[in-house]
Parts: sequence; structure tokens; C-alpha cells
Amino acid sequence: THFGFETVAEAMKEQKVGAVFSSVASSYDTMNDLMSLGIHRLWKDHFVRNLNPGRNPLTAPSQSSLSSEQGWHILDIAGGTGDIAFRMLDHASTINNDAHTRVTVADINPHMLEEGKKRAIATPYARSPRLKFVEANAEKLDMIPDSSIDLYTVAFGIRNFTHKDAAIREAFRVLKPGGVFACLEFSKVNNSIFDAVYKRWSFGAIPLIGQVVAGDRDSYQYLVESIEKFPSQTEFRDMIKEAGFLVPGQGWEDLTGGIAAIHKGVKP
Ligand code: SAM
Repeated sequence: THFGFETVAEAMKEQKVGAVFSSVASSYDTMNDLMSLGIHRLWKDHFVRNLNPGRNPLTAPSQSSLSSEQGWHILDIAGGTGDIAFRMLDHASTINNDAHTRVTVADINPHMLEEGKKRAIATPYARSPRLKFVEANAEKLDMIPDSSIDLYTVAFGIRNFTHKDAAIREAFRVLKPGGVFACLEFSKVNNSIFDAVYKRWSFGAIPLIGQVVAGDRDSYQYLVESIEKFPSQTEFRDMIKEAGFLVPGQGWEDLTGGIAAIHKGVKP
């Protein structure tokens, strides 16, 4: 049946995504640097700084919705190697003097989580109760109770999900009222000349460099195609709204001419 085909295709996508990230787990920084020309580090810094994680006793009243007594509980979905989590904890500790805010890193891929745990050893959070790694599918977060999370983040993850709408609904369920959904993802370039250059780069150079540097052309080809297929800024904003979130302003911020974008939603 038509439905049967869909199910097989979906299972294949999940398997393919699993194989891609198992294959790139150890060359993960190289991959990100190639895909974004190294700019992903600046985007991640901006993403975290802008969310200003942590409970600062001086600023807490103005952040009334996100001011749990014991710091924030952040859920970093598709958090893989811990890139976002470490930045969140550093920011909460050093900028907001908050030693309580904690991050649960969830990822579907055990190889990526292993890479994250290895990296955590070099941080102050290796044995800290403030950092936890769990294997989970973003579309079904049964282990996370309703209304328990202050901030849900997903960086360069959601375009790999089979059912993005289901994942956004799960985000809505686990967030507390007033909690924030924040997504950093590759998006659509908003200038046609820049877009032509960018497409040449991504479709031409990235799979080739993937082959030469990581010995894995197919995974890099998949990653480029997954960016191309991802919804535009407005379409994605509308998906967030459809799940019930309130969307501040136009709903997103373009980074580097729309190569990436940050989308946000607040649970009413
Ligand atoms: N957030 C990290 C960062 O920005 O560096 C990792 C991003 S990496 C490009 C994408 C991650 O999404 C991979 O670790 C992959 O295993 C994870 N992923 C893919 N599908 C997933 C799903 N359905 N649920 C949870 N994680 C998923």
C-alpha cells in the first residue's frame, strides 16, 4: 500500500541518518567546518549568548518565565558531541554565576553520544550532575516528563528527523509554560547571487572534500541534500506556530545571509 511504502521509506531514512552520523562521528568537527567554512563555531556562540542561559539573580525578574529556583533545565536535542551543551554550561556559570543550570543532551546515535562523553572529559562538567547524556529519538521523548524543561535547543539536528512536526510537538509537550524552543539550522540564502555561489560550493566542493578528507563522499552528499530539502524560514516558522508556540517578531534570525537561521517559539 501507499502507507506501507511510506513506512519503509521512513525506516530507510532513519537508518541512513544513523549510518551517516556513525560514519562522521569521529570526523565531526571537520564536517562542520567544511559545511560552514568554520563559521558554525561563531553561529553556535551567538545562539547560546543570545539565549543567555542560567538564572542570574540580578536579571531574573525580567526573565520571569525562565527563572526556576534551581537554575534552568535545558534539553539539547540531537546534541551529539556536546557542542551546544558545553557552551550553555560555560555561559550559565561564567556570565550568570549560576552553578545549578543543567543540560540533558539527547541524541539518537550512540556513536555521537560516545564522542560527546569523550569530549566532556576535557570540560569541568565531566562528572558533574549538571551534564547528562541520553539516547533518545526527538520524535518520542517518553523519558522526559510533560512541562519539565525551561529551554529546548536543537542545533543542526532537526533537518535529519523523519517527522519534524512530531519532534516540534514533543518539544511543546516537555517545555514548561513560558519555556523556549530554539532551533539553529541551515536555512535558505536570501540573495540570489550569494545563493548561486553557495550552491556551487555545497553541491560541488563539499562531497568532494568529504571524499578526500573523511574518505566518505556519500555521507557528505546526504548532508548537502538534507540542507536543500529543509523548509524555508517562513515555512519552518509556520510549523512552529502550528505546534502551538507563540513566535516572537518575524520568528527567526538569519545568520550569514540565511545560510543558517535561528527560529524561536515560546510555549504559552
Ligand atoms: N547539535 C550538534 C551540533 O550542533 O554540533 C550535533 C548536530 S549533528 C549535525 C546532527 C545530530 O542529529 C546527530 O548527532 C544525529 O545522531 C542526531 N539525530 C538525527 N536524527 C535524530 C533524531 N530523530 N532524534 C535525535 N537525534 C537525532
